[in-house]
Amino acid sequence: MSEFIIEYVKALQILDSRGDPTVEVSVVTRGGGYGRGIAPAGASRGLREAVEARDGGSKYLGRGVERAVEAVRRYIAPAITGMSSYRFREVDRKILEVDGTQNKSRLGGNAITATSLAVINAAADTARVPLFEFLGGRRARILPVPLMNIINGGAHAGNELSFQEFMIAPVGASTFSEAIRVAVEIYKSLKNYLKRAYGPAAINVGDEGGFAPPMRRVREALEAIVKATSEAGYRAGEDVLLAVDVAASQVYRDGLYFIDGSFIEGSRLLELYVNLIDEFPIASIEDPFAEDHPQYFRDLKLSLKGRALVIGDDLTVTNASLISKYLSENAIDGAIIKVNQVGTFTEAEEAIELLTQFGGKAIVSHRSGETEDTTIAHVAVAYGTGLIKTGAPARGERTSKYNELLRIEDYLSGEAVYAGRRALKLK
Ligand code: PEP
Ligand code: MG
Repeated sequence: MSEFIIEYVKALQILDSRGDPTVEVSVVTRGGGYGRGIAPAGASRGLREAVEARDGGSKYLGRGVERAVEAVRRYIAPAITGMSSYRFREVDRKILEVDGTQNKSRLGGNAITATSLAVINAAADTARVPLFEFLGGRRARILPVPLMNIINGGAHAGNELSFQEFMIAPVGASTFSEAIRVAVEIYKSLKNYLKRAYGPAAINVGDEGGFAPPMRRVREALEAIVKATSEAGYRAGEDVLLAVDVAASQVYRDGLYFIDGSFIEGSRLLELYVNLIDEFPIASIEDPFAEDHPQYFRDLKLSLKGRALVIGDDLTVTNASLISKYLSENAIDGAIIKVNQVGTFTEAEEAIELLTQFGGKAIVSHRSGETEDTTIAHVAVAYGTGLIKTGAPARGERTSKYNELLRIEDYLSGEAVYAGRRALKLK
C-alpha cells in the first residue's frame, strides 16, 4: 500500500467560471498517481458555511486567493506529505487539525476543499480505478437524475426573478444519456419559446447556463418551462418534473421576503408555494425560507404532506449535525451536498451517509462559480444519491459534470441503472 503515500502537494491560483481566482491543488503519490482538486465558489452562501480565504486589496478586486495557495504550501503540504491517500479520511482529519477552527478560517475553506478533492482523486488514480469506483466499490452503478437549472434568477442573473433556480428533472428517461437528450431538447425548445415571447435578449444566460429572461413573476418562468416541455414533445408531470431553488435568504429583509416585486410575510410565501405546487408539477423545493426560519420549513412540509420535497441548502450547509437536527425536527426531506460548504470531502461524506441512513435525499451539487473539476459526478454515483444538481446543459463548467456522467454510464455499460422517478419520491 506504500504506493498511496502522498509524495508531493502543489497549489496554484487559477480562475473559476465567473473569472474569479480560485485554488487548484495537485497531489502526486509514490505509485505515480495524480489527482487534482479545484475549489468552487458560491454567490448565495449560507451564514454557517466554511469561510473562503480571499486576499482583499486591489488585485483581482480583492478576490485573489494567494493567501489560500500559500496556506496549502506552508501548512497543509508539510502536514499531509508522507500520509496515505488511501486513508483519505485521516488526511482530512489532519487538515482539520492543522486548521483548528470551527469555520475553517485559518487555512481557508477553499484551500481545504481543493486539497481534500485532490487527495481522493490521487488515491483513485493510484488504484487505477475511476473515482466513483474507488469510493463506492463495484456496486456503485446508480446514475443520478440531473436537476437542470434552465432558468436563472436571483443572485445568478441580471433579471428580476425572485427565485434563483428553475430546474427540470427528466425522470421518465430510462438511461442517463436519454435523460440528457430530453433535457437538451427542452432547453433548446425553451430558447425558441423565450425568443418568440420576450425577444432575443431573453436567451442570454446566467451563471449556471440557464436562460435569464426579463421576467418579473416566478409563475411566468414555470409556465415557460411547461410550454417548452410540451413543445419539445414531452409531458410535464410525467416525463419531466420541475424543481426550484428559491435561495430565500437572498430575498429576506427584516422579517419579510421580497417576492414578485413586493415584500410579503413568510406565511404568505408558504401559501404561494402550496398554490404553485397545486398548479405545476414541482417535485422539490430548496431553501423555501431563510436559514433562520426553520419553523417555516416545518410548516411547509406539514402543508405539503409529501407532495414535494423540502430541501435544505443554506439551512444545512452540508453539516451533518445541522442536517440531523432538521431531519429530526421534520423540517426537511433532504439536503444539498456541497463539499466547499463544509470544507473537507470526509465531512460531506458524513452528511451523505447520515441522509442515507435516515431516509433523506442527498442532492450532490455544484456551486454557481464552478470549474472543470468533475469530482461531484463521481461522488453522486459512488454513494448512489440518485440526484445531482449541476446547472444547465450549457457552459463548459456545467457540461463537464454531465459529460463525466455520460462517460461513467458508458464505462459501466449494461450495469448502469438510471435513478429515474423514485429519486424524487419520498420513501
Ligand atoms: C445554490 O444555491 O444551490 C447554488 C448552487 O448557488 P451558490 O453556489 O451561489 O450558492
Ligand atoms: Mg441552493
